[in-house]
Amino acid sequence: MPGGAYNDILPKLPMADCLFCRIVRREIPAQIVHEDEQALVFKDITPQAPTHLLVIPKKHLGSLSASTDGDAPLLGHLQRVASRAAESAKLSSFRLVTNNGKGAGQSVDHLHYHLLGGRPLEWPPG
Ligand code: AMP
Ligand code: ZN
Repeated sequence: MPGGAYNDILPKLPMADCLFCRIVRREIPAQIVHEDEQALVFKDITPQAPTHLLVIPKKHLGSLSASTDGDAPLLGHLQRVASRAAESAKLSSFRLVTNNGKGAGQSVDHLHYHLLGGRPLEWPPG
């Protein structure tokens, strides 16, 4: 197989030691509130608001920066899943945010969107 083909496939493989891939595979417990073919939503273990959910793709993407144009339908799906999760949590106001890169506070290298609500949220964030 030419090197280029490996480079196409590698980012799509499940990552053995990725925390959120392990949650997807149920190797680590989580309080899951939604699951479908492409997405998982579960409660953040250190909630920063009365509602603090993480919306993730099941497919491993290291961050939003690791996504490609081909991921656009998946990224759109995640936004719809987040909107429905906010509705289920009865949130009329909420924040959906991804920390992309260490400098932005990313600590888990698997794309995730924080869905925060249930208290006043200040802007700009720190
Ligand atoms: P970030 O710092 O933006 O990468 O966000 C990572 C988030 O994952 C943090 O809010 C953590 O509290 C959360 N987190 C870490 N480990 C777990 C876990 N095992 N289950 C649920 N949430 C977790
Ligand atoms: Zn992963």
